[in-house]
This record gives sequence, structure tokens and C-alpha cells, in this order.
Amino acid sequence: MRYYSLTNPQLQVSFKEAAIQGIAPDKGLYFPMSIPKLDKEWVDNIAHLSKEEIAYKVIHSFIGEEIDNDSLQKIVEETLAFDFPVIKVEDNVYSLELYHGPTLAFKDVGARFMSRCLGYFTKDRKEKITVLVATSGDTGGAVANGFYGVEGVEVVILYPSAKVSTIQEKQLTTLGKNIKAIEVEGSFDDCQDMVKRAFLDSGLKSCHLTSANSINVARWLPQMFYYFLMYKELSNQGKPIVVSVPSGNFGNICAGMLAQKMGLPIHHFIASTNVNDTVPRFMNSKEYEPKKTIETISNAMDVSNPSNFVRILELYNSEGEVLDKHLTAYTFSDKETIATMKKVYKETDYLLDPHGAVGYLGVKKFLDDKTDYLGVFLETAHPVKFPESIISNLGIEIPIPDSLKPLLFKEKQSVKINSYEELKQHLLTSFSS
Ligand SMILES: *Cc1c(COP(=O)(O)O)cnc(C)c1O
Repeated sequence: MRYYSLTNPQLQVSFKEAAIQGIAPDKGLYFPMSIPKLDKEWVDNIAHLSKEEIAYKVIHSFIGEEIDNDSLQKIVEETLAFDFPVIKVEDNVYSLELYHGPTLAFKDVGARFMSRCLGYFTKDRKEKITVLVATSGDTGGAVANGFYGVEGVEVVILYPSAKVSTIQEKQLTTLGKNIKAIEVEGSFDDCQDMVKRAFLDSGLKSCHLTSANSINVARWLPQMFYYFLMYKELSNQGKPIVVSVPSGNFGNICAGMLAQKMGLPIHHFIASTNVNDTVPRFMNSKEYEPKKTIETISNAMDVSNPSNFVRILELYNSEGEVLDKHLTAYTFSDKETIATMKKVYKETDYLLDPHGAVGYLGVKKFLDDKTDYLGVFLETAHPVKFPESIISNLGIEIPIPDSLKPLLFKEKQSVKINSYEELKQHLLTSFSS
């Protein structure tokens, strides 16, 4: 498969080049030249396929022969080496739990897939690659975990100082080895801006930078997998499915919409955001006007200029379709989020994390009292990652999973910066080759 830059369609590269570059030299996001269509027969038979068979079929056409079949099969197996349960929360409302991976957030899927692809592509390279990534909370941990110990790859994680939860911070600052954390005095958008600037900075060529944010196709595309796995579980109920995705940078929902384009029968998408509501405002006014980022309890979605939204526009513009027919966007306050976490826990015993709660609110608002749809929301992180807001608002203590306990005793290691110049200096000193 070839990929073109969204800012210059003449600029085209292979999957390998797109994964290694992260972002196109002209700052555009890469986008597949064509969207493969799945046979209806294959989709109708999905309940009889294994999760690995499904994922392989979905991703293979986006990669072609650039990764040999056995290696791709192995990458897919390792990517999906945990559960993706679909849990009934109440009549017609289901939670797709995406937090059973090693860092307890959905980003494990993209990060595991991408790290293994890069490992495959850099096997025979002489120079090291430096993965530079901005995190609003969960990407950092997932990327750190996915790339830990991968030969030939150094990882530098930028995160907004004091704006991630304690567990999130430990996950990205304590591993050591090829993983380095940089604390930025600012917001996630500031981190993301610095990362984008570094990619375009010809003075940093010697660092061989690439991105592990969802702008990288190798992280973005595998996020389609679990939409198919959810459909496998729910298709036998015979109702049209609507999916609400708690959204920040809009990579996750955009992967779902791509899956729909391939032929996955999802009736409608709901983008649920916190008060960082650039997209909900856009859907009303058709004006794209990011504002200053606001801090919320669903911190991984504190994004005001979502990178992947241009991909959603591309998905629909290219065929002259109307975006509104496929996508509704809602915004919810922290107050509504907390009230929902309390209400759902009290009435159903189901514990939502703040991000999942925003997703749940979106499903409920869209369904209203309609009973002819199945509503699904994505539970994007384990509630235990946000103990501060769960204890203070719900008054319950969640047992920390054994797999996380060692982390809490580890020492944080990070470098503090507050300007792009400092970042550049640091990269040149430590990662130039
Ligand atoms: C990253 C993240 C999101 C937002 O996903 P996007 O792909 O950036 O829209 C939502 N919830 C959690 C827990 C996250 O970590």
C-alpha cells in the first residue's frame, strides 16, 4: 500500500517509509491511497473467526508484502495478547473494555503493533531511530512499554508537568534503558507542538526522529482491530450498532470510521469530548477554531487541536459524502462526568473511569430513549489509573492490580524543560548519531 501526505497528494511513500518517518516532510499526515473493501460474506461470517484471523485480514491489505506473512502474523498475535471484553452495562448499552493490556489503556494496542513494526523495519539499519512522542497521559506509558528494550530504537517521551496522574507518570518515567522522559512546563498541546516542530527542524536530521503518536500510521491503523472484535461479539443481536468514542486527538475514532469504510457495519459514530470541544463546535458551525486547552479529570482527552481530525475530513470529502450522516459530536463537563460515574456505579455496579464516563454519556445522549439500536462506548483506560478522582468522587478505593505494584516503588527519572530550544539542545546532545 502507498500512503500520501494530506497536504500534498503527490508526496507518496510505502508503509515502511510512513512508519519510519511518522509525519510527511511537508508536515502532512499520511493517508492510504485507497481503502480496501471487505467482502460482505467475510464480515457476515466474522463470529466464526479468531481474533488473530480477523486482525490479520484487516491489516494485511494496508501493508501488503512489506512485512512477510509469518512476521506479520506474529506481530498481530503479540499485539492482541490480552482480552477485549464487551460488557453489558444496562439494556442496549455495552462497554468495550480496551484496558486489559500491560499499561491498562487502549493505547497498548497501537503501541505494541507499531513498536514491533519498527523493530522489523530497523533490523538491518545502521543508525538508531529516535521515537519522539507527546503524551496527554496514556500514550507515554504504552509507548514506553511497547518499545522497552527494542534494539536500535531510542524513545523520548514529552509530557505536561503535573498534568498526568501518578500512575501514568510512573509508567513513563521509571523504565530506564532506551526510554527517556521529558517534563514540559505547559499543556499537552504545547508538547505536541514541540514534537511537530522537531520533526520539521532540519537541524535535527542527525537524530533520525519518528513519531509514535497516532499520526503515525503504524499506530493509527491497528486501532481498527477492536471495532471488528466488538462486532464479532454483538452482531448476533441483529440491531444496528452505534459507537461512542471518548476522543482527544481523534485517532481512535478515526480508526473506527476507517473500519466502517472497509465494510464494518457500524451505523453511526459519536465523538464524545470533555470541555475541550473544538470538534463538537466544528460540527455545528463548520468553523475549526481551537481554543486554549482546559484541564479536566479526563486528562488524556485534554486536547484542543486534534491532529487526526483532518483524516476524518479526508475519509468523507474524497467521496463527497456528508460527515454529519456518520458522525455526531457532543461535549460534557467534569460535573456531568462525575455525576455519571456515581450514578452508573450506584445503579449497575459498573465502575467507569472518567474517559469511559464521557463515552457513556455520549451513547446515552444519542440513544435518548431509542431502543432499536445497540449503543457501545469504548472504555479506554482502567479506573485504577485515576485513583485521585475515583476516591474523591465515589469514595471507593480500587485495589491496584498486582502487575502495577512494583511500579509504585520505582523512582521517577525525567528532565525538565520549558522551551523548544531546550528540547532541541537535549536531543542533539543525547541522541545524535
Ligand atoms: C488517548 C486517550 C483517549 C483519546 O484517544 P484519541 O485517539 O486521542 O482520541 C481517550 N481515553 C484515554 C484513556 C486515552 O488514553
